[in-house]
Amino acid sequence: MATDRKRNLARLMRLICAGEPVTRVELARRSGLSTVAVTNLVTELIGAGVVADLGAVPASGPGRPAGRVAAAPEGPVGIGLCFDVDYVAGCVVDLRGRPRHRELRRVNITGTEPADAVRAARPVLRRLFEQAVTTDRLVAGVTVAVEGVIEHDRDGYPTVHRAPSLGWRDADLRALVERELAALGAHGVPAEIGGGAGYAAAAEDIEGGTALYVGGEAELGAVLVTAGAAHRGAAGAAGLLGHVPVRQRGRPCPCGLRGCLDRYAGRRAMAEAAGVDEAAVSRLLTGEDPFARRLHAGDGVATAAAGTAAHRLADALAGPLAVLDPATVVLGGRLAALGEPFAGPLRRRLADQHPWALLRLGQRGPDAALLGAARGALAEVLTDPVGWADRSP
Ligand SMILES: [Zn+2]
Repeated sequence: MATDRKRNLARLMRLICAGEPVTRVELARRSGLSTVAVTNLVTELIGAGVVADLGAVPASGPGRPAGRVAAAPEGPVGIGLCFDVDYVAGCVVDLRGRPRHRELRRVNITGTEPADAVRAARPVLRRLFEQAVTTDRLVAGVTVAVEGVIEHDRDGYPTVHRAPSLGWRDADLRALVERELAALGAHGVPAEIGGGAGYAAAAEDIEGGTALYVGGEAELGAVLVTAGAAHRGAAGAAGLLGHVPVRQRGRPCPCGLRGCLDRYAGRRAMAEAAGVDEAAVSRLLTGEDPFARRLHAGDGVATAAAGTAAHRLADALAGPLAVLDPATVVLGGRLAALGEPFAGPLRRRLADQHPWALLRLGQRGPDAALLGAARGALAEVLTDPVGWADRSP
């Protein structure tokens, strides 16, 4: 059946892109398909230009030498773009999800109009496309990560509903990015917009089961991850945990509400509680923020501030944990970088509240959302490789 064929093509594509060069026999073993079926489907993938036949390698033992296949080295790439308070960053990833090229531009995004922010991203996008073109690769798409609430309408069209740290509201970011792509001569390259937490979670490669990912850089974000995929929700708006009110008549928040979690467990709240008045600079620009530096130096006030913030976060997670019962809580982004002085108190609280969920630290650096977004731009190639190739110029 056609749908079986499509599903099996997607399954083989994912297996091939997941690792090192592999033989058709091994693919048959891993996929549960027959060797004949694998051979036919792999031939289609090679014809689509997304898989390369590496030819026979000398056999190390008796028997015929086995031909290996791999993700096409000249295959399509995905581009990720990320706007944060003080930078715009971009990256190109190949079919295996490995970053091939990165760009970073320091620019104050907070308070700028989305149109101006996208214009500031022009040199970043241009260099990413130049990089893709010089290596003769097709760009499958551009995916933009924003820490905020991204809503999708019934047709799946995304709008930035609000991004408090950037000061954006009801922004048609996709149209702005597509216009910029057209100006760069990249007509027809699709653009997608999504929440930073979901992309950062996807980049963590969280395997199996159900996990609650809690992270973020400027903003606290949380998403549910099932079978490795971040749950976007009915409106695609899941993820912005930081602006959930946790205190009635609490501290005023720049988002317009009062008592938001961000004002008790966010970056600025922790820095203020520890008396750190150095301007916080994004980790992607500096590697470590001043508060984390104080914390890792063993500063008692910073340690107490981290502990208090961990307790406020635990309060806010009680509901999601009770309802979702995840096997794991993955602490990512800036929270992971705070290490045990933050994770320790949080782990102890979670053990009391919901002892079935294990807390572990994410492994990705400050560009997790960017990497996840770039990989997301290849989603269609991975789920429908032959159909994608048919539709491509
Ligand atoms: Zn708020």
